[in-house]
Amino acid sequence: MRAQRGRAHISGAEGIFEEKDVGPALLAYIGRAMRHSKGKPDALRLGVELVQSQPLIIRALPVWTLRTRGPADARRKAARLLSSSGVSGKAAGKAFRILANGGMRGAALLDRAEGKRFEPDKKRGVRASMLGISKGAMRSLGLALSQKNMDHPRVKDALVLASKVAAAPGIAAELCISDDPDYTTGYVASPAFGYIRLPRIKKKGSPEGGRAFFLGDAAAAGDLISYLEETPVIVGKISPVGDIITLHGFFQAHDHRKPRGKKILRKKD
Ligand code: AMP
Repeated sequence: MRAQRGRAHISGAEGIFEEKDVGPALLAYIGRAMRHSKGKPDALRLGVELVQSQPLIIRALPVWTLRTRGPADARRKAARLLSSSGVSGKAAGKAFRILANGGMRGAALLDRAEGKRFEPDKKRGVRASMLGISKGAMRSLGLALSQKNMDHPRVKDALVLASKVAAAPGIAAELCISDDPDYTTGYVASPAFGYIRLPRIKKKGSPEGGRAFFLGDAAAAGDLISYLEETPVIVGKISPVGDIITLHGFFQAHDHRKPRGKKILRKKD
């Protein structure tokens, strides 16, 4: 689903559904687009296509929320998390500047050492597509998130996207700041640490935002782009949803845990 007003993007979403669930899913997308906090769209496009290959089934990243005091503090913590995921200060700084400019439909793809960019079209960026979540995992996720007071379609969508990205070959980390002026929680996600929410990463009312994916192996950029855009992936299991935690507490909790690595559970049969 894509909704816009004039040339401005209002909202977009996608999922992978069984045939009998396609109709209700489309109605739900229309409802979401019409009630978006960015206002009513004047054009709404729906597209349906058959998934041609068996989706990979993956586990969602574990969710954490960091205690943050405001944009400067949240960004400092994002930079620490990126650095611990192997992203250089130079590459992280470049990503923050790209996100501050906003205006992309997809994500910037940067190598984690130098911040060199790999998107074929830098204005558009790379879109993570062909992704969804099973009904069972969606139910468990809704329950786990509502116990922590964060059950919102936005969190679920972003977690599915970040889980697909983190399961990609050669991904070190992702940085996201929403471009919705009303939504000020961003995140850093990585295969090593999970999905870490960063409240107050931008000032309310600011239209800046975007995504950056950091690549460990620059030679793998082509494979990564085709995985992100074309390989169907479904989240079939969730991981724990944690409490609000300090960065210090977060690193302490991870000190004695092994990095999760990538978990492809099985091909769907
Ligand atoms: P949102 O979280 O929907 O507010 O999106 C924030 C930013 O992330 C957008 O401005 C885009 O730059 C980027 N983005 C949104 N959807 C995708 C996607 N499917 N793949 C890659 N980047 C995306």
